[in-house]
Amino acid sequence: MDFRSLGAYLIITATEWPPARLEFLAHSARPTDFDFLKVIGKGNYGKVLLAKRKSDGAFYAVKVLQKKSILKSKEQNHIMAERNVLLKNVRHPFLVGLRYSFQTPEKLYFVLDYVNGGELFFHLQRERRFLEPRARFYAAEVASAIGYLHSLNIIYRDLKPENILLDCQGHVVLTDFGLCKECVESEGTTSTFCGTPEYLAPEVLRQEPYDRAVDWWCLGAVLYEMLHGLPPFFDKDVAQMYENILHQPLQIPGGRTVAACDLLQGLLHKDKKQRLGSKADFLDIKNHVFFSPINWDDLYHKRLTPPFNPNVEGPADLKHFDPEFTQEAVSKSIGCTPDTMASSSGASSAFLGFSYAQDDNILDS
Ligand code: AMP
Repeated sequence: MDFRSLGAYLIITATEWPPARLEFLAHSARPTDFDFLKVIGKGNYGKVLLAKRKSDGAFYAVKVLQKKSILKSKEQNHIMAERNVLLKNVRHPFLVGLRYSFQTPEKLYFVLDYVNGGELFFHLQRERRFLEPRARFYAAEVASAIGYLHSLNIIYRDLKPENILLDCQGHVVLTDFGLCKECVESEGTTSTFCGTPEYLAPEVLRQEPYDRAVDWWCLGAVLYEMLHGLPPFFDKDVAQMYENILHQPLQIPGGRTVAACDLLQGLLHKDKKQRLGSKADFLDIKNHVFFSPINWDDLYHKRLTPPFNPNVEGPADLKHFDPEFTQEAVSKSIGCTPDTMASSSGASSAFLGFSYAQDDNILDS
């Protein structure tokens, strides 16, 4: 039996059958291990719930996806990419940690660190825009996470305020790895058309091969939105917005420092070869004058005090989640463990290797 370890994690793949103790644990994790308390968010294929593990009372965010809807839209590769990326990224301070994942014949479950300072989007909508020091802090933590993913040959591709959460202290946590592209070497390109309209880079719109510079475009779009309240090139008419992204020169409203304007121009350069980040990747961003107040080592070690404290009073404090979600009834089927966990259906075989366990969870067992 050949277990390949990755950091503190053990990946268990279908080819490593027959099962030993670890495989047993990954498969023995089940919905009834948790009390599912509240719906806290929704993604493309399912819901995210606040859940309490019965054995130790620990709180987690559990993402529950319906296999049927994933298969219908032929998105299983994205989901497995999310699982693979989550496996690799857990060691970065600004990326959400995946504890373990398991499946029933109908659903996939991701057990994630619970982050309850709210979406950046939620705070931005409330305050309309952030002052430069606050925007700089978030942009630096996001850039640090993106630079780390790039160092693992992963393009994030879907950076937007909804995917940037704040933890209870106000630090950034990037979530949702459903669109990540794995194994893109530094010169490598890819061409799947995906992302969110407001943040699509010109090369993605043109359906040209794109590379990691696409994430620096998105960082520019998010920074622009933090400073100005709307994404760059925004138009209610999506076709017009695409036209603007492709052809309209970047317009930066007044009142910003020269450094901020220069960074936005650099990140939102329509030519990916001229874009800031296209040469030395994260190092280009780190060295830009806009970030000169940031000590990157202190930032990485969370020694910088966040500019905003979400003031949450423990895990039960849901004030930063949208009541539209938290008031929704939790479906009983989410917490039920079916009589037969094993299944030979097509839905199961499409997700072979999905289940895995972290080694400290194995020791818990
Ligand atoms: P996703 O499907 O990953 O895009 O998640 C949908 C929404 O659920 C996000 O926009 C967040 O509001 C929420 N969410 C996702 N992951 C977590 C987490 N680890 N902790 C708290 N909320 C989360």
